[in-house]
Amino acid sequence: MSNQHGPYDVVIAGAGFAGIGLATKLRREGLNNFVILERADDVGGTWRDNHYPGAACDVPSHLYSFAHRPNPDWSHIFAPQKEILEYIRASAREEQIDDRIEFNAEVLSAEWSDLDSVWTIISSAGTYTARVFISAVGHLSDPKMPAIQGIESFAGKVFHSANWDDDYELAGKRVAVIGTGASSVQIVPSIAPVVEQLTVFQRSAPYITARPDREYTTAEKRMFHRLPETLAAQRRDMFWANEERYAQRRGTPSLVQAVQSAALNHLASQIPAGPLRDKLTPDYTIGCKRILKSDDYFPAFLQANVSLETTPIVEVVGSGIRTADGALHELDVIVASTGFEAVDLPIAHRVYGRGRELLAERWNMGMQAYATVAVNGFPNFWIINGPNTGLGHNSSVYVAEAQIEHIVEAISHVLESAAGMLEVARAVEDAYSAQVDSMSQGTVWLDGGCRSWYVDARSNRLTTIWPDFAFSFREVNSPFDAERYGDDNSMHEIEGIRPIGQLAQ
Ligand code: NAP
Repeated sequence: MSNQHGPYDVVIAGAGFAGIGLATKLRREGLNNFVILERADDVGGTWRDNHYPGAACDVPSHLYSFAHRPNPDWSHIFAPQKEILEYIRASAREEQIDDRIEFNAEVLSAEWSDLDSVWTIISSAGTYTARVFISAVGHLSDPKMPAIQGIESFAGKVFHSANWDDDYELAGKRVAVIGTGASSVQIVPSIAPVVEQLTVFQRSAPYITARPDREYTTAEKRMFHRLPETLAAQRRDMFWANEERYAQRRGTPSLVQAVQSAALNHLASQIPAGPLRDKLTPDYTIGCKRILKSDDYFPAFLQANVSLETTPIVEVVGSGIRTADGALHELDVIVASTGFEAVDLPIAHRVYGRGRELLAERWNMGMQAYATVAVNGFPNFWIINGPNTGLGHNSSVYVAEAQIEHIVEAISHVLESAAGMLEVARAVEDAYSAQVDSMSQGTVWLDGGCRSWYVDARSNRLTTIWPDFAFSFREVNSPFDAERYGDDNSMHEIEGIRPIGQLAQ
């Protein structure tokens, strides 16, 4: 069989929520000449990879799902990972996307040719050509291992939370968990009862609020089946409840105070005053990092076999982790719950635009894209979950869907237009980015006194978070207008982006 495939209208990299969502919309629009290249052997993306103990979503499932595929059968308010993965699999199957996916096909490079206006995508399963190339690989797909001196010399087992080894028996082991983010707070209480000794290495304390989870009753699920409007109402209520919480991120003092008190009261209700509570108390403004939800993370530290280590790690040696006070923590296993390569996206190191310009080079001071999806110099290329797409407070599926609306219209335009090509003008992209940068000034992410992966350290720009409400993300970024891609200066004021100060205070 030839290793050359195509020409396709569209090649999509990644079969997670974003890739499956885009493919579904393309099919529903009758645009069928596409293929998804997926590096793994299953769909699901980050929900396939992150199957660590306790993995679940901290955004309510009726909201964290496709608008076009409401699911009356979610078992809990916050569904576990297995159920979310099953939902994505069913979406691919029932929307007849399955047979459009090339599994075990990792995109190694994608290059635009001006000569014939075609993308050539070289993958581990062969070479594909297409008029349009879409990155739907996400920003939580490549695990980030901590750069700790000597980690390769550890004699025990080391793995990242996104590469959990289900076959490895933790019972009776001395385990370290490095990191205290959203993944860690789910892992720690899940493994604490099993392991012999658990040491959590904390660099900075997270703010944690209550996690009001519960099972949906059979009666509720029956109602969602019979009265779909009740399901839609659930989703709407969840969305707007999250939007209400957003205003806090802009630094409105009374709202900051309210949510900070809620988090600190949650801590105080679970951990008695004393050194442990002090160590678990954050030293920055709430919201600067993701506000986590858990009812069982803090109590885990009250178990005799669990300890919290806040002395910085200096090195890993054969038998364990050495901290700055000289102590050696002897270990069998190190779990790196240290996040993802979200700032300098690995896919950007594989995409070459006009004149063989590398996307990562173009973004060497941080990511930026017009409407969060289009980059000058990269014609007929759009990116989902790229710059300014993270939301600390609402559903990232909603964000991807808003981008997909824009992208599907852009693709239709390309396929129908005589030129067969669409590229955003540099001035338009720069003007858009300048407005997003200006919106991010004064937010808790830049001014909250923490260090996080929301900010690109190379430029101190907020490149991963959308610094406004989720509904405004859709208002600003979903509408597609080919004329806005052009050089007309009058188009540079991007409708919908509000300067700081115009937000409800
Ligand atoms: P993360 O939020 O980036 O947290 C990484 C943790 O590792 C932080 O506590 C960080 O400390 C620590 N760390 C990193 N490098 C370190 C080093 N060299 N030494 C010591 N500590 C180090 O990663 P995550 O928990 O995997 O979450 C990533 C994102 O995934 C979340 O923000 C969220 O968007 C998503 N997620 C969502 C859910 C959900 O339920 N929806 C669940 C899991 C993950 P510092 O804070 O000091 O940097």
